[in-house]
Amino acid sequence: MAMTATSVSTSVAGSWIDGAAVATGGAAFHVVNPATGEAVAEYAVATPDDVDTAVASARGALSEWSGATPAERSAVLYKLAQLAGASTDALVAEEVSQTGKPVRLAAEFDVPGSVDNIDFFAGAARHLEGKASAEYSGDHTSSIRREAVGVVATITPWNYPLQMAVWKVLPALAAGCSVVIKPCELTPLTTLTLARLAKEAGLPDGVFNVVTGLGGDVGAALAGHRDVDVVTFTGSTPVGRKVMAAAAVHGHRVQLELGGKAPFVVFDDADLDAAVQGAAAAALINTGQDCTAATRAIIARELYDDFVAGVGEVFSKVVVGDPHDPDTDLGPLISMAHRAKVAGMVERAPGQGGRIVCGGSAPDRPGSFYLPTVIADVDERSEVYRDEIFGPVLTVRSFTDDDDALRQANDTDYGLAASAWTRDVYRAQRASREIKAGCVWINDHIPIISEMPHGGVGASGFGKDMSDYSLEEYLTVKHVMSDITGVAEKDWHRTVFTKR
Ligand code: NAD
Repeated sequence: MAMTATSVSTSVAGSWIDGAAVATGGAAFHVVNPATGEAVAEYAVATPDDVDTAVASARGALSEWSGATPAERSAVLYKLAQLAGASTDALVAEEVSQTGKPVRLAAEFDVPGSVDNIDFFAGAARHLEGKASAEYSGDHTSSIRREAVGVVATITPWNYPLQMAVWKVLPALAAGCSVVIKPCELTPLTTLTLARLAKEAGLPDGVFNVVTGLGGDVGAALAGHRDVDVVTFTGSTPVGRKVMAAAAVHGHRVQLELGGKAPFVVFDDADLDAAVQGAAAAALINTGQDCTAATRAIIARELYDDFVAGVGEVFSKVVVGDPHDPDTDLGPLISMAHRAKVAGMVERAPGQGGRIVCGGSAPDRPGSFYLPTVIADVDERSEVYRDEIFGPVLTVRSFTDDDDALRQANDTDYGLAASAWTRDVYRAQRASREIKAGCVWINDHIPIISEMPHGGVGASGFGKDMSDYSLEEYLTVKHVMSDITGVAEKDWHRTVFTKR
């Protein structure tokens, strides 16, 4: 696969409504390449009025799309997968420019993963499931209809802009819903490209709308819109709770994919080298800006010193640099503001008991880069151990026995992902059973696949992205019960009338 990423510049229309690029009425906003600080695109943000227009467009397009046959919907989505695959270089270039993620990650994970997900939902559109029709009462035939829930409002973050859009929009389209999506204002480019490709694939106008802008006005207007039917969200836990409150005003359904603080538990019988390599990869992927990233390494006391030394060595060899260079391992954080947040948390760590083993500062180069950082001996109450850092930072603690390991793994409000490293099948089974998380990996950490669900528990939210499970977010279950007796005075009427 080609791994070139040319820079994207120019001004783009900020929104996509009713099948066309729309120059919306809000203020001008710059998409900035965080590796350089340079603007790569300019667009006008949407206004709450534009949100109304987009929702009306989605409402107007709903009956045609939800009324299409599964095969017709599937054909459009397959075409979209093909077009997205053929646009890989352009999508990679946009993703690298707007996020600063290394080109290798965008070209080998973000874009092909998104294409595969589109492809998966093209197939899933033809496999909606329900309970078997039968005469459960004896006097009626009961059947289940799976119907599109309606107009979907969805809001996505900046860390994997294309993948997060695909994870929300594709199951909705497969289910027959129409969509209005608000990508993060920092990273709208690939979501806008996806909407354009969907039109090219034959998706009817109005089925897939994009409004761009800030969360506080455009996002809030969409989350609290009266005329949508479900609100799905990926982002931070505090904002997810605001989104839920806004949707609750109208009693709308909500799905939330929120933050994480994944434990990475290494038992004393584990393959130490595999655990060290795995921790480094899982902590540093996407510069640690990954909701499932390994952030809390919890290590058997017998292996602790060797593990800390091992990850410190791997972290110090990571190549930090130009995201467009295929040899770069680690790109910048998304913005200078986010780097200041990460740096502040790391700087406060020694005062809370942590020992900085490596990193702990920004390299001397332009852009919002931060060095890979290991903090050992962290206190259980410390901020770096409890709160989401969302940067290239691994914290490490030791445990005494298996009970202590699993207690520490579960000592968090979050519950998105976790991993356990062991050669003992009973330990692995116990860890997968007892760790509270939406996903538990055994002897690995990070891989995802279109056929399997992603989603958390607790402060990490609820509901699923990816896999057939995610279709549940976008479908209603309707029971149709048809009398088969033809009798006017039905047997059950005796519970109402004593004499007839
Ligand atoms: P964020 O919560 O700040 O923003 C997410 C989106 O919400 C953005 O589009 C933003 O503009 C919008 N928004 C902000 N305020 C809003 C409001 N009041 N009403 C409606 N929308 C509003 O998150 P972020 O910084 O973009 O992304 C990082 C976060 O996302 C991390 O916490 C990470 O763990 C989480 N995340 C979770 C998953 C998952 O699958 N669980 C995946 C990726 C990222």
